[in-house]
Amino acid sequence: MDSQHPRHRVVIIGSGFGGLFAAKRLKRADVDVTLISRVSHHTFQPLLYQVATGILSQGEIAPATREILKRQKNAEVLLGEVSDIDLAARTVTSAVGPHSTVTEYDSLILAAGAETGYFGNDAFEPFAPGLKSIDDALELRARIYGAFEMAELEPDPASVEAWMTFVVVGAGPTGVELAGQIIELSRRTIKNDFRRIDPRRARVILIEGGDHVLASFGPKQSLKAQEQLARMGIDVRLQGMVDAVNETGVEVRYRDGRVEHIASRCVIWAAGVQASGLGAQVAEQSGAEVDRSGRVKVLPDLTLPGHPEVFVLGDMIALDDLPGVAQVAMQGAKFSAKKIRARLEDREEETTFHYFDKGSMATISRFRAVANVGRLELRGFIAWCAWLFIHILYLVGFQEKVSTLGHWAVAFIGRSRAERTFTLEQARGSLTNEREPRVPGTG
Ligand SMILES: Cc1cc2nc3c(=O)[nH]c(=O)nc-3n(C[C@H](O)[C@H](O)[C@H](O)COP(=O)(O)OP(=O)(O)OC[C@H]3O[C@@H](n4cnc5c(N)ncnc54)[C@H](O)[C@@H]3O)c2cc1C
Repeated sequence: MDSQHPRHRVVIIGSGFGGLFAAKRLKRADVDVTLISRVSHHTFQPLLYQVATGILSQGEIAPATREILKRQKNAEVLLGEVSDIDLAARTVTSAVGPHSTVTEYDSLILAAGAETGYFGNDAFEPFAPGLKSIDDALELRARIYGAFEMAELEPDPASVEAWMTFVVVGAGPTGVELAGQIIELSRRTIKNDFRRIDPRRARVILIEGGDHVLASFGPKQSLKAQEQLARMGIDVRLQGMVDAVNETGVEVRYRDGRVEHIASRCVIWAAGVQASGLGAQVAEQSGAEVDRSGRVKVLPDLTLPGHPEVFVLGDMIALDDLPGVAQVAMQGAKFSAKKIRARLEDREEETTFHYFDKGSMATISRFRAVANVGRLELRGFIAWCAWLFIHILYLVGFQEKVSTLGHWAVAFIGRSRAERTFTLEQARGSLTNEREPRVPGTG
């Protein structure tokens, strides 16, 4: 705080789970909050796969940050990609178009999340996009529904097969959810929509480098999930590493030495994440370490060494093996907001962030999910009901909750999907083999 700014200035980077919840937690604090994000919305990432597969619209899972915070008088929202954080000068530089902004802070909350990670194989990206943002979800929707359109036009049977082969790389929750939804849309939603192809003949291949699908859920849940995926017609390939991806498909190297080329025109990467590069930037300035995924090794109170005024949250941190899940970001947001308030009110601060694991869940198909809550392992319909309840509970905005429930009824009880609209532009040239590189910093 300086003499010209009597109120303590908190700058928050990111409008995801960490950033948005930190801003809300500071509502009653005697501070000025500036939230800077490169997107105008708060993305509820756990439901991105439903935008990608035509069940939900982007508005339902990504309400405008400005609208969420409109009644919070101590908060302002700035659109901009943060490129520089200067820990010594306590400034953040962000830019959008011709507008470059330097914002000063007294406290900084860095919650810029993570990107899709290709383990050093960034050349895979144009052929195998990931699912981290609304742009990604709309691109995948265009690629998935577009693949059936291209198959309908294709005279050559081998090419038809390549268009109707969907490869999902990585069998964590995102990969499993995407694979499940692609097979359901081919078998239920669009099965009668084409004249030359039979969408029910689409193949969905789920490739996993490890020994299990949904490995983080434990061996019993993994096995049951794998059986369920097989029953749905998903071809699960374990112990397979994707060595190459190009416009013809993927090359998979299995642990037993076999190498296989799978012809596919729609490959989706759900195999890894890489923390925002802003983490490495602040780590270098403060002497903190970063791990292989670019996550910052923060102190037990989520701050940087020598910089108690800088908090790092959520997917950007490496601390006690905490997973990259929404609750880590939200609880970190609560913790850092509480610390800032305690400092300003000269109260004793908590010194250690303790994460409370509320459990994890993943859907496999309509009416089927797995959920681990404490030592309880739920499966099938009951787990799916728990999934539905939790997701509606945490979705931001009443209007969004009501319309999501409506779209779920259409898709899960009925057979159609309300959000199948896509454009060739969203497919980034993948349908016409004129692939365009991703503009850095979008999404
Ligand atoms: C497809 C998918 C499904 C998931 N499913 C689940 C689930 O079921 N349950 C669960 O608990 N977790 C799930 N997660 C993980 C969960 O969404 C993340 O752990 C959580 O979003 C992390 O919150 P965060 O605030 O750290 O980052 P994010 O929520 O990713 O927010 C980062 C924010 O920073 C902004 N940003 C990034 N870089 C910059 C920059 N340079 N300048 C300005 N702004 C920037 C971004 O636009 C974004 O607003 C899922 C994630 C994905 C991708």
